[in-house]
Amino acid sequence: MATTFSGGCLCGRVRYTCTAEPMMAGHCHCEDCRRSSGTGHSSHLEVSADHVSMTGATKANVRPSASGNPVTRAFCPECGAPVFSTNPALPGLLFLRASSLDDLEVFKPQMHVWTMRAPSWDAPSGALPAYVKMPPGM
Ligand SMILES: [Zn+2]
Ligand SMILES: [Zn+2]
Repeated sequence: MATTFSGGCLCGRVRYTCTAEPMMAGHCHCEDCRRSSGTGHSSHLEVSADHVSMTGATKANVRPSASGNPVTRAFCPECGAPVFSTNPALPGLLFLRASSLDDLEVFKPQMHVWTMRAPSWDAPSGALPAYVKMPPGM
């Protein structure tokens, strides 16, 4: 059952379509997600990179994540909007920013991670499983 959804940056230079359903989706409260978000956390959809086609060049910032892996965060060089990230520990996967979706309801969050970094004004709602760091095995 193939679904197609699309998204892009704020100015529209970076656009993507994805032809597969997200494998996982959630909110991350780690420091890097917060600092690159404009608010207290980032929301991501994990998809197979093979199913994503993207147009428009992105610029990327590479930083070791809280787990130690050098995470690449790609953003539009024109408007600065974050679009996706990749993690060498999870090859073949793209983590699309939920903020970039055209249809926001495609994002079905399953969990909160790195809640130990969540500020009081952007705390997990309690409606989803929440992990102080990452869930066991991830
Ligand atoms: Zn842009
Ligand atoms: Zn994060």
